[in-house]
Amino acid sequence: MPTEAAPPKDRTSKVTPPKQVRKPKNAAERKARLGRILTELDRLYPNVTCALHHKNAWQLLVSTILSAQCTDERVNMVTPGLFKKYPTIKDFANASQEELAREIRSTGFFNNKARSVIGAANRVLTEFGGKVPQTMEELLTVPGAARKTANVVLGTWYKIATGVVVDTHVQRISQRLDLTKNGEPVKIEQDLMKLLPQDRWIQFSHQVIHFGRQICVARAPKCGICPLDPLCYAKDKALA
Ligand code: SF4
Repeated sequence: MPTEAAPPKDRTSKVTPPKQVRKPKNAAERKARLGRILTELDRLYPNVTCALHHKNAWQLLVSTILSAQCTDERVNMVTPGLFKKYPTIKDFANASQEELAREIRSTGFFNNKARSVIGAANRVLTEFGGKVPQTMEELLTVPGAARKTANVVLGTWYKIATGVVVDTHVQRISQRLDLTKNGEPVKIEQDLMKLLPQDRWIQFSHQVIHFGRQICVARAPKCGICPLDPLCYAKDKALA
């Protein structure tokens, strides 16, 4: 079962004033800096994976659809009962949309999500023989699955690196670390795919999502305990 990484222990007890850092001047410096960022993420989060609980590709697809605008913790509270009541894809396909919406109500946007999940079940059954597809092209035809959802399923379950998951944490931290100048997830993903070696695409997202939950949080990032502080020149870095 996927697990949440524990917060890094070696820095949390020692808060130091964050540093002012100069930008890299050329391609060689940028490359060296990126290498140090990746090394530090590996040191912090060597074995992280998706925090959504699931036992197969279908459960991961449903959980990811439910996780839009919702926390993984909340989704993990809802899905055990859901997968018990609807153990197969066919059970979801035959579900009443109203009833399913009631059951996932606490995840927000429940009517749309119920419609997507039932639509996804029907699509997987009728077009893909009951097996969640393994290509980006096919997954994008499944109701409720945009690139982020498809990347989660492909990367986490099938271990296929087709792209980089860009959620709110990856978006914010890629901008703070100057790995992208873009604001749209699709463009940020393209930037990250150019920048990162393909064998880092899957793990990078998992690591950054954990980093974003624990240290580089949206409001008041914990720069004083951040191991990436010596590499970070973000405008909203907390220097006080
Ligand atoms: S917490 Fe975020 S903003 Fe602060 S130093 Fe670390 S990476 Fe930069």
